[in-house]
Amino acid sequence: MTEQAARITMARGDGIGPEIMDAALKVLDRAGARLELEEIEIGESVYKRGFTAGIEPAAWDSLRRTKVFLKAPITTPQGGGFKSLNVTIRKTLGLYANVRPCVSYHPFVETKHPGMDVVIIRENEEDLYAGIEHRQTDQVVQCLKLITRPGCEKIVRYAFEYARQNNRRKVSCFTKDNIMKLTDGLFHKVFDEIGAEYPELEKEHWIVDIGAAMLADTPGAFDVVVMPNLYGDMLSDVAAQIAGSVGLAGSSNIGEHVAMFEAIHGSAPRLAGKNQANPTGLLLGSVMMLVHLGQTEAAARVHNALLKTLEDGVHTGDIYSASQSRRQVGTKEFAEAVMERLGEEPAELKAVRYLAAPKKQAVEWKPSKPALKSTVGVDLFVEWRQGSPDDLAAKVKALGGEALELKMITNRGVKVWPGGMPETFCTDHWRCRYMGQDGAVSHETIAGLVGRAAAEGIDFIKTENLCTFDGEPGFSLGQGQ
Ligand code: NAD
Repeated sequence: MTEQAARITMARGDGIGPEIMDAALKVLDRAGARLELEEIEIGESVYKRGFTAGIEPAAWDSLRRTKVFLKAPITTPQGGGFKSLNVTIRKTLGLYANVRPCVSYHPFVETKHPGMDVVIIRENEEDLYAGIEHRQTDQVVQCLKLITRPGCEKIVRYAFEYARQNNRRKVSCFTKDNIMKLTDGLFHKVFDEIGAEYPELEKEHWIVDIGAAMLADTPGAFDVVVMPNLYGDMLSDVAAQIAGSVGLAGSSNIGEHVAMFEAIHGSAPRLAGKNQANPTGLLLGSVMMLVHLGQTEAAARVHNALLKTLEDGVHTGDIYSASQSRRQVGTKEFAEAVMERLGEEPAELKAVRYLAAPKKQAVEWKPSKPALKSTVGVDLFVEWRQGSPDDLAAKVKALGGEALELKMITNRGVKVWPGGMPETFCTDHWRCRYMGQDGAVSHETIAGLVGRAAAEGIDFIKTENLCTFDGEPGFSLGQGQ
């Protein structure tokens, strides 16, 4: 057990934030958590002072110093110009793993899924959330989906380590690699590679659409589920909601240096100041923080007292039901009920035990030897509205010069030349694929192609190099599915 108090950064947030944070801090203190708080201001008031990310520069110093952040929800102002504080904090501090346990408390809290106990582990930094978007032509906008090997390795290893340390039996992976063979394909591949190092754990992969349907319908079939950012964002909300209430789930955001703990819900402005909000989500986020800090005894005391409170039917309005609850209480009274039960354990719900000294969960990533890269062709993207795919082919064929041969033109990923179909709908956004005539394609060759396109008045948008890595093509074939 750690003797010294842990210094943490804390923010009370907006809406119901201050009420649930007060409730959580009182319970933590009474449970014997040893914390020294550095309070920072985030959210609406900071946005309104002109800081578009909702946080002042000085607050970063506290986060970098304490490395642990207990955060209440904030209100993101409506309208353009404001950035999501959560996304900013996660990316700036490298919080790559978002962990959300979604548990039902049947028969004490109404749920459609008794026995649900799923942990969603969501990649938290990349995918479409890189925020790299462009309007490329009059008709077409693009958002880059970036999936990296380090990103996949870190999150997948985190998920397997989490499962091992928490005595879980199975890790499932959701992707859409039947369509996105390179991006989601890499995530799936890394899942298979790293999974092989955990022979005691069951492993399975689901295509995300049917996986999501199964998760919503039969959550008991899942244990730990690891996903790229966007799918994880959506499905962790679904999982929390079907477990009982968004007010019941906490989450951690873990990085190599810093970790952030919070409730999964927002600032619920309509409940603000009414002493009605359920503080359970933030309390469970706080329990995850105590485990992270090695204060496992206090973590178990808080968690078990909370379970006993729910079991005793002492419920806030969001989970109150005449048949299952005994007493409807407000935020403060709920916290008092938890404090009265510190030291007790639930009789029917499973009591929690935390390992005395949890291993550090953040995963360090080490680069492996880079693959041998060879450029074999180039895609030239152009904006064009003057005719048929055959007309465009006639215009751009000669641009390849001696070294490059025009092999294919696609529109929205569908091949329209050679041998396109008249029924295919075409926009003003075309990809012209050139392959090297003999051997590797140099940067000079690509510059030559672009130079000739400029001279011919072709409105090119960008080029993408087509490379092989250790002989494996690093590009899709472009037929679409
Ligand atoms: P919300 O989660 O605040 O509320 C959704 C519904 O759940 C509401 O009906 C609300 O009353 C209820 N609810 C939420 N937490 C509850 C609790 N603890 N106890 C009882 N009921 C609870 O989502 P929203 O209304 O879409 O968003 C409100 C604001 O919160 C927005 O400004 C949004 O940007 C922000 N938000 C912040 C975070 C965060 O800081 N982590 C996360 C999500 C949303």
